[in-house]
Amino acid sequence: MTPGARPRIYSFMYLLAPACEAIAGTASKLEKARIVADYLRARNPEEAAVSCVFLSGRAFPAFEEATLQVGGRQLWNILRELSGKSDAAMSMAYRKHGDLGSTAFDVLSSARAGREAAAPPPNVLEVAETFRAIARTRGAGARARMIQELLARCPPLEAKYLTKIITGELRIGMKESLVEDALGRAYGASARELQRANMLLGDIGETCRLAIAGRLADARMRLFHPLGFMLATPAESAAEAFQFFEHAAVEDKYDGIRAQAHCRDGEVQIFSRTLDKVTGSFPEVAEALAQFPGELVLDGEIVAWMASPPAVRAGSPPEAHALPFSELQKRLGRKIVTREMMRSVPVAYVVFDVLYADGELVIDRPLRERTELLDSVFRRTRRPARVRAADVQGQLQFEPAVEAESVSVATVIRAPVLEAETPERLEDLFAVAQARGNEGLMIKDRESAYTPGRRGQSWLKLKRELATLDVVVTGVEFGHGKRAGVLSDYTFAVRDQDRLVNIGKAYSGLTDKEISAMTEWFLAHTLADHGHSRLVEPKIVLEVAFNAIMRSDRHESGYALRFPRIVRIRDDKPPEEADTLARVRAIYGRQHGRKAEVQES
Ligand code: AMP
Repeated sequence: MTPGARPRIYSFMYLLAPACEAIAGTASKLEKARIVADYLRARNPEEAAVSCVFLSGRAFPAFEEATLQVGGRQLWNILRELSGKSDAAMSMAYRKHGDLGSTAFDVLSSARAGREAAAPPPNVLEVAETFRAIARTRGAGARARMIQELLARCPPLEAKYLTKIITGELRIGMKESLVEDALGRAYGASARELQRANMLLGDIGETCRLAIAGRLADARMRLFHPLGFMLATPAESAAEAFQFFEHAAVEDKYDGIRAQAHCRDGEVQIFSRTLDKVTGSFPEVAEALAQFPGELVLDGEIVAWMASPPAVRAGSPPEAHALPFSELQKRLGRKIVTREMMRSVPVAYVVFDVLYADGELVIDRPLRERTELLDSVFRRTRRPARVRAADVQGQLQFEPAVEAESVSVATVIRAPVLEAETPERLEDLFAVAQARGNEGLMIKDRESAYTPGRRGQSWLKLKRELATLDVVVTGVEFGHGKRAGVLSDYTFAVRDQDRLVNIGKAYSGLTDKEISAMTEWFLAHTLADHGHSRLVEPKIVLEVAFNAIMRSDRHESGYALRFPRIVRIRDDKPPEEADTLARVRAIYGRQHGRKAEVQES
């Protein structure tokens, strides 16, 4: 050891990295939580708090907007330089592991055998401090240098986990909920208190501090800090959807982007499903919500909107409706929203839930009560809303609370709620929802609480008859013919525990404009360049349609898709929410079950 260096026992590696190895080494959730609890108990409170954030796979607490902005390509170059390996050797290691962290361990262990790092390895607090400094630093080069300095001090195992935290792909089977379990074991708090505090704060580190101090009850909802979104479970058919609960509230499934709005007497912020602030992308929605009095947190979907022409508005039936996602997409990803853009693609905010109103967090109340509260919220806006449910044919009466008067004020609508007491009725509603141009239905348990960030059986989504999969792009290739110069062929994967396993390849479905934007992104986020093909950072989620799922040895997953085609780019979905191998197996099973039935009849 270098004279004067701090003993290893304080290092990031000696403590956190081996704990991560041990966590990855067991499939048992109980055992994982036990390892984390032991680790945390042996730390001082601040180290424990920071470690909780890292163990949940993040560089910063969930609610923070800070990002490291260091791409996979830069990390790749840093690791290549530190290990002295060639690109080919790096690619070989990456192909073996499919993840940059394990690649770092591989290339650094063989390069560094017997060598001591230049300085003592950083401990968790130093890593957290450096991350903050990186987030404040302008210039990609300067940020990359800071990462390089940090990694240069790390032995291979530390480098592995540091890299994993930087890329946000820890992959040791530790979800934030498991860190909550570990906190319960370490400090004796109840799961309910921990979950609640973490959900309200959006900061597992701060939750840890409160747990240590025995002050979890002090956690409060903070307006303008996003709460996690309640998620839905796919149902493959109306009959299956109907098995879960008796009193279903049914809404159309609007094809737009999820948005949580925080309002306080004219002040408004809108958050996306990834908890990013997107107020600037929809200024007219913020303007409209400014007309809602009091303090509110609303949940809904922003959709491209076709308002009914004035002549029709007076009579019935109304013609206002949501437009397909492809319309809204024309507006997404733009830094500046011009008036022209607002005029050519008007949007509406369709609100389907209320989470907080006038100082009260209402997520624990059953949906049936939140529905009434939401109605009353809409009644007290400046323009009272009279939203009526569907008539017998399932025709929806869209009567907005705040109706667009000009391009700078969007329409805000309370999503109509329908009822279904039988699967047949659900089938009918599904057909009408699709005929209206919406994706399908959301079926919600009237008795259910709002569970932020969790996917349960209380909200079911019924989409197209034929399932689609949300997959992650892992590799890309240049196309042929007129697509020779662009990256248009995509190899994609589904999740299997903490791994991504390839399941297919698609090269149709995107527009030329989308392919050119994708090409630009993939060129900037290439991990390994093999000429015609590239390994890319697994960050882009695509929704793919297909005709059937087949068993196949061609891909790691053991399955392949028949006639896969890209339905759309899911900018709103992080890779951790992509579909799983378990779902692929379920669809495959059902497909065969159905086939058997057809053959028998
Ligand atoms: P998916 O994105 O396919 O996983 O489906 C879930 C998404 O459907 C939610 O995150 C919302 O963005 C969207 N959605 C559309 N309409 C509704 C609705 N009425 N209630 C809840 N979510 C909806």
